Amino acid sequence: MRKTLSSVCLIAGAAFILGMWLGPSTGWAIFAIALLIMVLISGRQHQKIKLWVRDLNAAPPVSAGPWDDVLAPIYRKIKQDRINLQTLNYHLDGIMMAAEALPDGAVTLDKAMTIQWCNQTASQHLGLNLATDQHQSIFNILRTPEFAHYAHQKEWEQPLLLHLSQRGRERALLLQLTSYGMGQFLLVSRDVTQVEKLETTRKDFVANVSHELRTPLTVLLGFLETLRDLPTESLLVEQRMRYEQMMLEQAQHMQAIVSDLLTLSTLESSPSAENTAVPLNYVIEQALQRVQALSNGQHDFETHIDDKLWLEGAETELASAVGNLLTNAIRYTPKGGTITTSWFMNDDGSATFSVQDTGIGIAPQDIPRITERFYRADKGRSKATGGTGLGLAITRHVIARHQAELTIQSRYGSGSTFSIHFPKERVRFATI
Ligand code: ADP
Repeated sequence: MRKTLSSVCLIAGAAFILGMWLGPSTGWAIFAIALLIMVLISGRQHQKIKLWVRDLNAAPPVSAGPWDDVLAPIYRKIKQDRINLQTLNYHLDGIMMAAEALPDGAVTLDKAMTIQWCNQTASQHLGLNLATDQHQSIFNILRTPEFAHYAHQKEWEQPLLLHLSQRGRERALLLQLTSYGMGQFLLVSRDVTQVEKLETTRKDFVANVSHELRTPLTVLLGFLETLRDLPTESLLVEQRMRYEQMMLEQAQHMQAIVSDLLTLSTLESSPSAENTAVPLNYVIEQALQRVQALSNGQHDFETHIDDKLWLEGAETELASAVGNLLTNAIRYTPKGGTITTSWFMNDDGSATFSVQDTGIGIAPQDIPRITERFYRADKGRSKATGGTGLGLAITRHVIARHQAELTIQSRYGSGSTFSIHFPKERVRFATI
């Protein structure tokens, strides 16, 4: 304002002096022209400012005359606000990314329990789609009465365990509600499906072990009580010997179960055993000698073994896996059957150990389950031949520890082939 006034005064002074010299009408004319020029300049500056206002991110127009004093602080303020906004956005992005990276699901709810925001994990846990479910009531998503009852509590000291089924997949979720801010709520979800499964497996395992040991133990106790209660002279020597033989068998069965359980627990709890170059042909031949003795001439044996092919691994573990497959082959192959053992290198450099039998075979629905602990496809035959139901579970562990793969091909009634495929990184060649 002051600048404009002094400019007008300056023009008026100059016009007055020129008017004195050139005549008053010329002075007034100069004064009027100068004022007009001033108005035009001011209009142009106004135009420039109007353009700048449309894009405040750009620097303000230079030489905006008297407006310079106003525009410079406004621009400085805008610049500072922009920096503050960027910093805030940066922090906000960081918080959002941290919320997305949470291993747990998080859903923010307003006072009326409608969904405001959720992270990716919560979307997966609860089947939420933020685009369509935002501003929906959480009770439309979690429709179970348990959740409604839980959410309507005043305080949530304990989480709620909820079992949900989404697209055929069962999930066990732990949900915890917390209030925060001005009457908002945070719903945290944690997937405990795996933990629940492990807990069930552990309980089943304890029950199975007890059951497996209880049967032979009951038989053993029965015989011992009979022997104790009967007068010595009332038993024939042959009868006593038969009883003792049966007791011995039950005790040996319990010993076999305990020994397999110890092997399993060692495999599960110990880190990978020390790896050495193992002459697998030698390990296979030793196992074959043992099973041939067990077979007692009842089976035919065919072998195709590459003597030069060795394997980097843990010898005792590999011996146990090879022994289990061969023992099973004779136990589940009736008299007169053929057992074919092969150990060879594949075209891609990997190696395969396989045992093929012409035995009883396995029904398709049992194949995926026979490596589970204590799972038996043919209970009668397994028990009759002293099976513990743990052989293939042990084999599966050994195979996993050698980054190998087990394939089972079988036709019920006509035989099975169990093959272990070892990766080429483990293949070695005979050094002697
Ligand atoms: P088990 O001690 O009962 O043999 P395993 O874990 O070695 O336990 O095997 C699990 C089950 O798989 C067996 O009970 C049997 O029903 C089945 N099975 C294993 N190998 C064979 C095979 N070669 N032929 C037919 N069934 C088999």
